[in-house]
Amino acid sequence: MTTPTPSPASIVGDPRDAFHAQSWAVIGAGAIGLSVARRLAEAGRSVTVYERDGFVGGQAAGFEVEPGVWLERFYHHVFRSDRIVRRTYEELGLAEGLSWTHPLTATLLDGKIAQLDSPISLLRFRGLPLSARLRMGATLAALRLIPRGGLLEGRAAGPWLRRWMGRASYDRIWRPLFEGKFGAAAEEIALPWFWARVHDRTSALGYPRGGFRPLYEGLAERVRGAGGTVRLNTAVESVERTDNGYSVRARGASGIETQRHDAVISTLPPRLTADLASELPDSWRARYATVPAQTAHCLILALDRSLTDTYWLNVNDAGYPFLVVVEHTNMRAPSEYGGRRIVYLGSYRDPADPMLSLSADQLVDAFAPHLARINPTFDKSWITDRWLFAVRDAQPIVGTDFRDRIPPFETPLPGLYVATIGQVYPHDRGQNYAIGLGERLAAQLLK
Ligand SMILES: Cc1cc2nc3c(=O)[nH]c(=O)nc-3n(C[C@H](O)[C@H](O)[C@H](O)COP(=O)(O)OP(=O)(O)OC[C@H]3O[C@@H](n4cnc5c(N)ncnc54)[C@H](O)[C@@H]3O)c2cc1C
Repeated sequence: MTTPTPSPASIVGDPRDAFHAQSWAVIGAGAIGLSVARRLAEAGRSVTVYERDGFVGGQAAGFEVEPGVWLERFYHHVFRSDRIVRRTYEELGLAEGLSWTHPLTATLLDGKIAQLDSPISLLRFRGLPLSARLRMGATLAALRLIPRGGLLEGRAAGPWLRRWMGRASYDRIWRPLFEGKFGAAAEEIALPWFWARVHDRTSALGYPRGGFRPLYEGLAERVRGAGGTVRLNTAVESVERTDNGYSVRARGASGIETQRHDAVISTLPPRLTADLASELPDSWRARYATVPAQTAHCLILALDRSLTDTYWLNVNDAGYPFLVVVEHTNMRAPSEYGGRRIVYLGSYRDPADPMLSLSADQLVDAFAPHLARINPTFDKSWITDRWLFAVRDAQPIVGTDFRDRIPPFETPLPGLYVATIGQVYPHDRGQNYAIGLGERLAAQLLK
């Protein structure tokens, strides 16, 4: 048990006053946690980051596919428009490793794979009549021109898209994607969220040499270099108010430890923050901690040959047990992975979905016949390795009431802050917005 030590803040002023708080706990070493911690540490605050896992990076973290070769547990790339990520790469001296390509994005519809990632490919797309393609192109162009998603607030994407691009385009191209991502809530998804996906994205995709691991290791190094601490394998179990700050109780390698901090930032989903901070009032919990979210579920296959020539394949045909096929080695050279082809089979699932309890081998058996529908020459013998990952709360259900259910940074408990991915709305969750969010909170606290 660590003995609580008085911090200078208890002498300077109210320890829970953000500006005076000297000792900060940050819960979570993902993109948000590391970026807020880095900025606070660089401003001279004492920062301890608590991370449950044995590595940094959260949802963007990788695993070692072979000694010294890292791959994200969930498919990741960045967009040219991700200015905050690009700036961060420059600040960390890693920009030279970030390379840009235009890998193929396509749709599987009526058993055929057709490119669908640009106005020209839309015009050539055979899966819709020409009039429907023109209407869809015009609707997407109009969305790109709208400067702020807030102008579309209060509307659901499904009915709006059906109205403007027509039922055929919506039902064949977009409805399967909304249903695959949000299940029964597909009709309720907020239009500003869809606007952001159209507005924010570029066809040029960036991926760093060695994956995203050096980015997160680099951010953690900045925290340490500025005097902060990043404690891995240390899961916070509770956060309780004391007379002059907070007592953070965490389970680490050597058992339970309790440490005092002037203030605490939780970067976890509000559902989990509410579990840790029992003093958060019921009104806060009812509004913010009950927003449903989907679990991301990803089976990764290493193959001895390519499955397709596409990087990103949206699966629009019915009956597939996955939503997207991301053939990573159609963006990066297979030689980076010992010549193997890397294929992610990704889905979003309700946390109660029984598919989440299947093993990697059971999923391989369940998915193999569907891979043969995509490439009839596919055979299970092509698979040389497989890995399975799932993460809860990966995709909040961004319904039309979502904006009112985004918690502010401040909570009703003075000195307890939340910085959580839903706050990037209407932008889609992503590393760029997560890093930006952490930096914005730090700037606000240091003002
Ligand atoms: C399938 C998928 C694909 C994606 N693709 C892309 C992409 O292509 N491009 C892109 O930019 N973004 C992508 N993202 C999103 C991106 O990874 C996330 O938006 C970003 O990493 C979120 O960072 P975060 O800090 O909000 O949360 P997280 O990364 O979830 O970090 C939270 C951290 O808190 C830790 N934690 C949890 N509980 C505790 C506890 N009790 N005590 C201590 N620590 C705890 C967790 O272990 C985790 O490390 C994708 C995400 C998924 C799931």
